[in-house]
Parts: sequence; C-alpha cells; structure tokens
Amino acid sequence: MELRGVYRTAGGTPYLKEPWVRVVARPRFELGQAEDFLLGYDAAWREYLSDEPLPDAEGLCKLAGQTCYLSLGPRRTKNADAARYFENILRQGHGSVLEHANFSLLVWGVSRSLTHELVRHRHLCFSQVSQRYVGADRLRFVERPEFQRVPELHARFEARIDRVREEYEALTRLLQERGEEAAPGRAALSRTEQRKAVQQAARACLSNEVEAPLVVTGNVRAWRHFIEMRGSSHAETEIRRLAFRVLLALRELAPRLFADYRETEIAPGDWAVATDWRKV
Ligand SMILES: Cc1cc2nc3c(=O)[nH]c(=O)nc-3n(C[C@H](O)[C@H](O)[C@H](O)COP(=O)(O)OP(=O)(O)OC[C@H]3O[C@@H](n4cnc5c(N)ncnc54)[C@H](O)[C@@H]3O)c2cc1C
Repeated sequence: MELRGVYRTAGGTPYLKEPWVRVVARPRFELGQAEDFLLGYDAAWREYLSDEPLPDAEGLCKLAGQTCYLSLGPRRTKNADAARYFENILRQGHGSVLEHANFSLLVWGVSRSLTHELVRHRHLCFSQVSQRYVGADRLRFVERPEFQRVPELHARFEARIDRVREEYEALTRLLQERGEEAAPGRAALSRTEQRKAVQQAARACLSNEVEAPLVVTGNVRAWRHFIEMRGSSHAETEIRRLAFRVLLALRELAPRLFADYRETEIAPGDWAVATDWRKV
C-alpha cells in the first residue's frame, strides 16, 4: 500500500519531503456561560449573546478583551466589527488577550534539526518522538528542499540515509549482543529498559536529517511569535516552510487573529511572512 507523503530509497529507507501540519485541538467557546455575568450588570447586556457568532478562538479572545473594560453593553464593538477590534488589539500590543486561545498541532515530516530550533520557543509545549524508546523499524528521514532540487544532492541524500540506517541497525545489533554492558551496573533490566539502553547509544550515529514528529500546543500569542521569527526571510528554509503552513492552518480557524500577515514568494514555493504588528 502506498503511504501518504512517504518516499523510499532503492534500499528501502523511508523519507519525507515536506512538513505536515494538522490542528488536532482548538478552543471551544461557550458564550452562553457568560449570561449570568452579563445580566448581573444590565438586562440590555444580554444582547451580547446574540451578536453574530465568531470562530471560537476569536469569540473567546474578544470576550476576554472586552471584559477588561466591561465593554459589553450596547455601545461595545460588535462582532461585525471584530476585524477592526483585533487590529486595534494588535496595534496597541495587547497580546495577553490572545493568550486565551490555544491550538494543538500534530507536526511531522520535520527533521531533528528543525525541531531543535522549534523547541527554543519557550511558550510552546512539546511532546516529541523519543529516540530512546522508538527504534529502527520507525526510523524515517527528511530531505531538505535544497537537496530535492539538484539530482546529485538528491542521490547523495538517498545514499547517505541508507548508510545511516545501516549503521544504526548495526550498532543496535552489536549493543543488543553485548546485553547488560549497554547499561553498566543494571543487570535485571526489563525488555523496555534494555531496548532504551541500546537505542540511547545507537542513536549517536543519527544525523540531523532524521524525522522527529511531535505535538505542539500554544496560544495565539506564542504561535504568532513563532510565525514571525521563523516565517521571516532570514529564517532557515525548512522551518520557514513549517511556519508558513502553521500560519495557513491557524488563519483558517481564526482569520482575524492572523489577518495582518503579508506573504511574499521569495522563491518558487518558498514563502516568507511579515507583519507590521510584531511581537504583540
Ligand atoms: C534567524 C534566526 C537565527 C537564530 N540563530 C541562533 C543562533 O545562532 N544561536 C542560538 O542559540 N539561537 C539562535 N536563534 C534562536 C533565537 O535566539 C531564540 O532562541 C528563538 O528564536 C526563540 O525566540 P525568543 O527568544 O524570542 O523566545 P520565545 O521562547 O519564543 O519567547 C517569546 C518571548 O517571550 C519573552 N521571554 C521568553 N523567555 C524569557 C525569559 N526567560 N526572560 C525574559 N523574557 C523571556 C521574550 O520577549 C521572547 O521574545 C535564532 C533564531 C532565528 C529566528
């Protein structure tokens, strides 16, 4: 059976050519829960509940922002003007309002060198594949865009990942044969512990090109900062591709929270993004 987005070398080593992003969790805004709060101020404020609905993340951030000034009555900015409301939030740098909406993304087709940069973003949360726990049968690689374009670099990539996989498998075999010496002083290891002891040593030969799938969760403020830093034309090529896909995925679900980003195609298929409202 053909596997989605997965290629193989002649030697059978699997690899991917691009980052994949899927939003696996998003906010669910329960505006009706605000009714008792609104009616405690003014019966007319109930109208807030029947304003034209916004996407969940936007409705949540707007309620949060309007609660700050109790701008919830008839003279409030209505949802029809939500785009202007959020533009004002961005212009004034009131980014804390955007922290209420969280999105979780399943990300794969990304290399270990990309995730090493991604995890520097301290307001995002990560669960990344364990190279101690997961072994050779799940090993995949990622081909850089630069290598995909040039036949010689592509051929070298395929040959290299075949060699790396063979070396990893050979190291795993040798370490397994040596048994407990893979984990000195711990004779009675469970099968899982033995496997981890072997793989934690064998992974030393894995290159930055190894794939490292992960789930990343962050609020809109943190995602915006990531998109700005890593979607910039100065960012590294592979992570810029990821940042652009993150932007497309999140903007579909919360268009007004990402409406300020401008895209430029700096090379065929290679997009950079910029905004006037950086680091809100
Ligand atoms: C083009 C490019 C080149 C890079 N080159 C290098 C490099 O050569 N070497 C290298 O080590 N890194 C490099 N980085 C990584 C960079 O230095 C940051 O670590 C990374 O981009 C995370 O962004 P951030 O520091 O803004 O923090 P994030 O973790 O994304 O946090 C967002 C914001 O929160 C605030 N914040 C977070 N933590 C703290 C804190 N502890 N104290 C005070 N404020 C805080 C800051 O305002 C920060 O900007 C590079 C990044 C890019 C985009």
